[in-house]
Amino acid sequence: MATSLQQQTPTVSTGLVDQYDVIIIGGGLTGLYQLYRIRELGLSVRVFEDGGGVGGTWYWNRYPGCRFDSESETYGYSWSEELLQEWEWKEHFSGQPENERYLNYVADKFNLRPNIQLHARVKSAIYDEKANRWDVQLVSGQRARARFVIAAVGILSADYTPPFTGLETFKGRSLHTGKWPREKVDFAGKRVGVVGTGATAVQLIPIVAKEAAHLTVFQRTANYCAPLRNSLVTPETQKQFKANYKSMFKKCNETPTGFVYDFDPRKTFEVPKEERLARYEELWAKPGFEKWLGNFHDIMTNPEANEDFAEFIRDKIRARVKDPVVAEKLVPKDHPFGSKRIPLETNYYEAYNQDNVVLVDLKETPVERITPKGIKTSNKEYEFDIIIYATGFDAVTGALTRIDIRGEGGQSFKDKWADGPRTYLGLQTAGFPNFFIANSAAFCNFPRCAETVVEWIANCIGYMGKKNLQRIVPTPAAEEAWVEHANALTEGTLFAKGNSWFVGANIPGKKRVFLLYANTAPAYRKKCAEVAAKGYEGFVLQ
Ligand code: NAP
Repeated sequence: MATSLQQQTPTVSTGLVDQYDVIIIGGGLTGLYQLYRIRELGLSVRVFEDGGGVGGTWYWNRYPGCRFDSESETYGYSWSEELLQEWEWKEHFSGQPENERYLNYVADKFNLRPNIQLHARVKSAIYDEKANRWDVQLVSGQRARARFVIAAVGILSADYTPPFTGLETFKGRSLHTGKWPREKVDFAGKRVGVVGTGATAVQLIPIVAKEAAHLTVFQRTANYCAPLRNSLVTPETQKQFKANYKSMFKKCNETPTGFVYDFDPRKTFEVPKEERLARYEELWAKPGFEKWLGNFHDIMTNPEANEDFAEFIRDKIRARVKDPVVAEKLVPKDHPFGSKRIPLETNYYEAYNQDNVVLVDLKETPVERITPKGIKTSNKEYEFDIIIYATGFDAVTGALTRIDIRGEGGQSFKDKWADGPRTYLGLQTAGFPNFFIANSAAFCNFPRCAETVVEWIANCIGYMGKKNLQRIVPTPAAEEAWVEHANALTEGTLFAKGNSWFVGANIPGKKRVFLLYANTAPAYRKKCAEVAAKGYEGFVLQ
C-alpha cells in the first residue's frame, strides 16, 4: 500500500488559521484520488467535504434504485493494481450502497481520512494577491489558507428543486433524490408523487411503485429510456475482470467516451434496412449504453439516422405499456435520441401497467402550485404523503458558482461564468491563479476522465514544486481560444439539441451553452498532455 504520509510537510497552525499547501473541496470520487496524488507529492493537504461521509454522488444520492449506468469494472479506480485485485464488484451495474462502500474502502485502504474534514461546507474562497494564498471559509466560520485550491465538487452535485409557488407549504414529507436521507424511507401505505422522469426518476419509480399505496408521476418531457440489463457478476467473470483490467482500461482510454464500446464504423443508411433492424435488436439486448455509444457512428450527427433509431425505441416503449394513451405520453417526440443522457432502467415502463400508478403529463396540465396537501396542476389537486423531487442538478457550473469564489482584483467567479463556463482545458480560469477545477468535464465515462484531470493537476503542482514556481494561471488569450474551440465542437452534433442539463436548459435563466467538452476523450487527453509537455503552454507560471 503506497501512502506517503511520512513525507508530508506538517500543517502550520498560526493559532487562528490553518495553513496548507493544498485545499481540496470535495471528498467524492475525484477528491479522494486528488488527495492521494497530492499527498504523494509530500504536500500538506486538507479536503473539505460537505457530507457526513466520503463518496460525493454516492454519498448523497442514496434514493432507492440508485446505481451505476457505467459498467462497474470500468467505473472503479484504475490506478492501484492492488485495489483492482482486492475489490470485487458484485453486480455489472453496481448499486449505491456498494458504491459508497467502495469509496469508503478506498479511503481506509489508502489512509485518506486523516486529511479529510467532513460536515465542512465551503462558503467562500478568496484569493489574497499579495500573499499568493487562497483564504477558504466554511459555513461554520472556520478558515484555512492554502497556496492551491482544487475544486473537486462534481458536475452533478448542486441539487435543483424547481421554485414552484407554495413549495414550503406542503404538510407532508418533501424529498430531493440528490439529498436523500440516510434512514430508509417507508413508502408502504403512502400516497407518493414523483416530479421528474430523468435518469434518477426512472431508477426510483419502479421501486416506489412496488412499495407505495399509490404513485403519481409528473412528467414534463418523455425520455428515450432503455433497458439497463443489470446482472450479478459470476465468479468466472470476476476472474476475467481481474486478469484483464489492464487491457480493459487501455480500451476505455481509446474509445471516444471512455466506455469499452465504440461507435460502429458504418453509417446508418449504408446498412440495408433488415440488417440495420437486426443490429438495433442486438444492441437493444445488450446491457448499458452500447445502444447509444456503440450505435452507427452517424447517430449523433445525422438527424435522419438518429430518427431511424428513435423510431425503433418508440416502438419498444409502445410495446411495453398496456394503455395506448399512457404509452403515447411516454413516447418522446420532441428531441433527438441521445441529446439528453439516456436513462437506463429496469422495469420502468412496466410500472405504468400497475393499477396504483398514474402518469400526469405536465405539457397538458402544468403544475400551478404546491399546496399543503400536494400538487395542484391546471386541472386537479393531487394529494400526497410524500413528494419526491427527482428534478436534477444545476450541472457542471452550479456547485462552483454556489461558492463565493473571488480571484485577482476581487473578481467574482460567478460573474465571470454568467454566460457559461470560461476555462482553459476545463482546468483553470483566467484571473484565478492556483485555482484548479478537477471536474471531468469531457463527455466521458466519468472516472475515466476524472483520473486524467486529477493526474494532470497533481503533475502540474509537482512540476511547479520542482521548478520552484509559485503561481499558475491561464492567459486570457489561451482561455478565449479554448472557449471558442469548445463551443465550435458542438456545432454539427445532436448532443446539444435537447433541453437538458447538458446545455443548462433545465435551470430557468441559465445561459444555453453545451457544458461538457464535446471532443473525444482521447483528443482531450492528448491536448492536456501536449500542453504539459510544452512547459504548460497557454499558462503563465511564476
Ligand atoms: P435530469 O435528467 O435533469 O431530470 C430532471 C427531471 O426533472 C426531468 O424529467 C425534468 O423535466 C424534470 N423537471 C425539472 N424541472 C422541472 C419543472 N420545473 N417542472 C417539471 N419537471 C421538471 O436529472 P436526473 O434525473 O437527476 O439526472 C441527471 C444526470 O445525473 C443524468 O443525466 C445522469 O448523467 C446522472 N445520473 C446517473 C445515474 C446513473 O445511472 N449512474 C442515475 C441518475 C442520474 P424536463 O426533461 O422537461 O426538463
